[in-house]
Parts: sequence; structure tokens; C-alpha cells
Amino acid sequence: MTIAKDKPLLMVVSAPSGAGKTTLCDLLLKEFQHMTRSISCTTREKRPGETHGRDYYFITLQEYEKCLQRGKFLESAVVHGHHYGTPRAPVLAALASGRDVLLVIDVQGAGIIRNCIKKGSHKGLKAAFADVFIVPPSVGELKKRLLKRGKDHPDEIRTRLKNAAREMKAGRFFRYMVVNDRLEQAYKQLRAIVIAEHCRNVKSA
Ligand code: ADP
Ligand code: 5GP
Repeated sequence: MTIAKDKPLLMVVSAPSGAGKTTLCDLLLKEFQHMTRSISCTTREKRPGETHGRDYYFITLQEYEKCLQRGKFLESAVVHGHHYGTPRAPVLAALASGRDVLLVIDVQGAGIIRNCIKKGSHKGLKAAFADVFIVPPSVGELKKRLLKRGKDHPDEIRTRLKNAAREMKAGRFFRYMVVNDRLEQAYKQLRAIVIAEHCRNVKSA
């Protein structure tokens, strides 16, 4: 039996916008110093307080399409009307150096990676892959959190709430689900998943 204590983890976290995935993932990155967050490319506008190269690579549609054509993305999707993609090379390099990688991406992106692994492409990622869906306690609470965050235009909030219902349906395809009602409780569960995944027998993957 192989107990894969030291295998790097490719942890994919998805949730409807406002469910709290950024808050929870920031806590993970603070605690698990060997974990690095993949920085995505996006064509959406920078929000106040965001930095190019730290939060996202904010690029033009033209630049995005060039990357897409050149196969630079591990996955890419249109989310709430904007393009988002995970740069492939840094993810593979981090895993090869033994670091855990955290992808905070939408349910389509998570599905693309999951299905590629299932079909046998991305062979090297199979043992590393684990996906977690963060569930908001209710749609009402989701709306409250989006308003509280106060960083999106009201039209953008409407789009995100409209898309939340569809995104919630994809939750059942994830290996783990964590309800983010009380933050401390949700975080306890999320960190337990990281620890459990490091103890998982790779042959069961
Ligand atoms: P996401 O990244 O999923 O869009 P955020 O992490 O930005 O969501 O959280 C949205 C808002 O909700 C933020 O203002 C955050 O502080 C708040 N929040 C996150 N988790 C909780 C929680 N468990 N209870 C109350 N507010 C929360
Ligand atoms: P936001 O614009 O609020 O930062 O992100 C909107 C949505 O896009 C979130 O669900 C976020 O997880 C997702 N997202 C961010 N980066 C990527 C990515 O590289 N690929 C995909 N598929 N989704 C992403």
C-alpha cells in the first residue's frame, strides 16, 4: 500500500461568487506555507485594491486569445461575461518542485480539469487532484455578502446572483463540499481536507 504523505496536491476550489472562497483560501495560504495559489489571467476590469500579477494578470482580449491559441492555459472559461484562464506552466512547475497548488476557479474550469483527468489526459495530475465546492448557507446570505464586499457594480452583482443557481447544481460533481456558514467551522473543514488529501493512498485516485 502506498501512503502518499509527500505527494503535492492540486487543490481546486470553486464556489458561487460571494460564497467566501477567497476568504477561506487566504486562510489556507497563510497556514500552509508550502501551498501556492495559481494566478489566473482575466479580461475583466481590475477592481479597486487589486494588483496585476498578485490578484490576476489583467490582460486584453487579444492577449488572452493569443495565449489560448498557443495552449498556454490548463483550462479556460467565460465566467460572468469575462474570460479567465489558468496558466499551465507555473502550475506544472510548482507541482514538479513538490509544492501544493491552489486553483480558485469557477465550476466550468474545475469540470474541464476533472474531465481531462478522467479521460486520461493530464496524466501527471491525477494523483494530485482534489476539488472542493464551497456552498453558501443561502441565496439571501450570498446576496448580503456580495453587497457587503461592495466591490462589484450592481449589474455585476445581479449577473453573479443569476449565475449562482446554475453553479450550485455543479456542486455534486466535486469530491468535497464545505458549507461556509460560520467561517471558523468552514475553515476547519477545508484545512482537514488538505491534511486528509496528503494522507490519501494514491492508488485510490
Ligand atoms: P468569493 O471569493 O467566493 O467571491 P469572498 O471571500 O470575497 O467571496 O467573500 C465575500 C464577502 O463575504 C466578503 O466580504 C467576506 O468577508 C464575507 N464572508 C466570507 N465568509 C463569510 C462567512 N462565513 N460569514 C460572513 N461573511 C463572510
Ligand atoms: P472574480 O471576477 O470575482 O475574481 O472571479 C469570478 C469567477 O471567476 C470566480 O468564480 C473565480 O473563481 C473564477 N475564476 C478566477 N480565475 C479563474 C480561472 O483561471 N479559470 C476559471 N475557469 N475561473 C476562474
